[in-house]
Amino acid sequence: MKKILVTGAGGFIGHHLIKYLKEKRYWVRGVDIKPPLFEKTSADNYQMLDLRNFENCIKAVKGIEEVYQLAADMGGIGYITEHVADVFRNNALINLHMLEAAKTNNIQKYLFTSSACIYPQYLQKKSSVKALKEKDAYPADAEPGYGWEKLFGELGCKYYMKSYKFKVYIVRFHNIFGPLGTYEGGREKAPAALCRKIALAKNGSIVEIWGDGKQTRSYCYISDCVRGIHNLMGSDYHKPINLGQDRLISVDGLVDMVAAIAGKSIKKRYSLSSPQGVRGRNADISLIKKVLKWEPKISLEKGLEKTYRWIEGRLNQK
Ligand code: NAD
Repeated sequence: MKKILVTGAGGFIGHHLIKYLKEKRYWVRGVDIKPPLFEKTSADNYQMLDLRNFENCIKAVKGIEEVYQLAADMGGIGYITEHVADVFRNNALINLHMLEAAKTNNIQKYLFTSSACIYPQYLQKKSSVKALKEKDAYPADAEPGYGWEKLFGELGCKYYMKSYKFKVYIVRFHNIFGPLGTYEGGREKAPAALCRKIALAKNGSIVEIWGDGKQTRSYCYISDCVRGIHNLMGSDYHKPINLGQDRLISVDGLVDMVAAIAGKSIKKRYSLSSPQGVRGRNADISLIKKVLKWEPKISLEKGLEKTYRWIEGRLNQK
């Protein structure tokens, strides 16, 4: 049985990934600073370690063959804007130390989870944006803090693969969503935040929307994400690759979709002073389709329905 480490195991994607890897019968160690919030982990071994500390990274990789590095100090646009310095510093420490620990332990394969936030802001100024291809990353003008650190992390992986001959995999996620993700407290992202707001709203009442509702994104469901990164680790592709959906939708469109799922009619009130990130962002997924024969299976409607019902269920328990 191959021994796998998933860091960020208490987080949204890490928790789902461990369930997926256990179904495939790997031996899995999960590491995080906290346990998963909503469900018990399925990891064989779970360690609470702060991966900003190098000695803890060495403990995490001991006896491991493959690493999925998902640990990060992150959240939605509100969180990464407000905590820009902490996000930059914490993630830089985690990523530098995890790479070095992986090298020290002769790890065979190492996955780095990068982000659509590495793409230049100058390409994302309109709602009707052109979908971003991997090669668009340079000349760089990444999202402040979080995006620049991810770009730095990508480069670290490239240099370590060149100097130390272990295999790295670099995936750029574009807005992954689904049940068991943060939906309140400040770190939640747009789909979960909107599901919560609409679940709490009475029929016919007002819901606050960040921005003017015209900003656009694409969203990818969690089961497609974990299947995609597992496929990537089985491939020979070592350059950055997008993983997401290429269906562009405005925040207004997303709100209408969630309201329809909820069976509620709501009125929108726009909060123009709230953080919004870039004006528009879409993923070009032609490379991952070609290299991995991967494409998303779950539609936005189906994914949102599952996410909404889960969040509604949680709120009803309170
Ligand atoms: P998440 O916040 O749910 O999970 C990240 C986990 O990392 C958390 O459980 C957190 O406690 C843990 N962590 C933070 N600091 C740590 C430390 N010092 N030591 C150990 N663990 C620590 O985020 P997620 O959505 O599951 O994202 C997983 C990865 O994918 C991250 O690297 C993130 O940047 C990247 N990503 C996610 C998305 C998305 O849409 N969810 C988009 C782009 C990139």
